[in-house]
Amino acid sequence: MIFPLIANEKIKDITLNAIKENRLPHAVLIEGDVGTGRHTLANFIAKAALCKEAHKPCGVCKDCDLIQKGGHPDVLTVTPEDKKKNIGVNQIRQLKTEAYIKPHQAKKRVFIIDFADTMNAQSQNALLKILEEPPAQVMFILIAESKAAFLDTIISRCVILTLTTPELNVAASWLSENSSYNREDIKSALIDARCNIGKAKKILSGKPQSKISAAAEEFIGFLLRGDGYACLNVCAGLERSRVDADRFVKELKYYIVTQIKNNHKGVQAKKLALLYSTLPQLEKSLNTNINLGLWFSNLVATAVKIMK
Ligand SMILES: [Zn+2]
Repeated sequence: MIFPLIANEKIKDITLNAIKENRLPHAVLIEGDVGTGRHTLANFIAKAALCKEAHKPCGVCKDCDLIQKGGHPDVLTVTPEDKKKNIGVNQIRQLKTEAYIKPHQAKKRVFIIDFADTMNAQSQNALLKILEEPPAQVMFILIAESKAAFLDTIISRCVILTLTTPELNVAASWLSENSSYNREDIKSALIDARCNIGKAKKILSGKPQSKISAAAEEFIGFLLRGDGYACLNVCAGLERSRVDADRFVKELKYYIVTQIKNNHKGVQAKKLALLYSTLPQLEKSLNTNINLGLWFSNLVATAVKIMK
């Protein structure tokens, strides 16, 4: 698996080195604003701690997969109990009992304490007792907005990972590649969100899908059903503008990757990957004076042929 966060180079180095040298700490405190990737990082570290493959985390083994789906029996998350605003001392005591139970299927147990900054002094002191003499094969990952809420004694027992927001252009490029929104919408959302990617995604998700993005999504749907005629119909409105055609290919790429990630394995995924790899050539030909009607016919014919 590649490191899932952009920017944050220092965190990346610390984390990847610890994984490589097989010396993940007993306790990590991830601090940062909501939307900066705290849970993404916690998940990545938990996978690295439990994955049994040589290159940890592999992202595809049973352990990695169960963590991704939130159902690994050796990864336990503590959050404030229903309707309470704090993680209570009883929850930490319960955690202590759990921490001494042997792992069910992995070689370690990982405890993620979310909203860790809601622990009062009593809860923190209870946790401190566990951190001072941590049971073997246990790792704690605390997630908080700021380490300022913690006792010094807790902080000194944790490796602190402070997440920051990326620069505007870096964040915009990443979101362009990993979502189907257009660049202008992405930039304005990022500016409103002060480059916080999680917040920007929320702003963007409130925007209606653009006409071109919707067309690309439909195109993939028809293509997977082998309906080339319907694919051509979807493109009918886009033949007047090279900018639209270019945008359409970019959206298409996004939906192909999404399909591969979410729905398809084996032969179908290989075909989609092949289709993806032929698109740059088609994109390039948009810079020539090729007739756009012909260009779209060519795109559909190529895609249908590959997916047959
Ligand atoms: Zn794995």
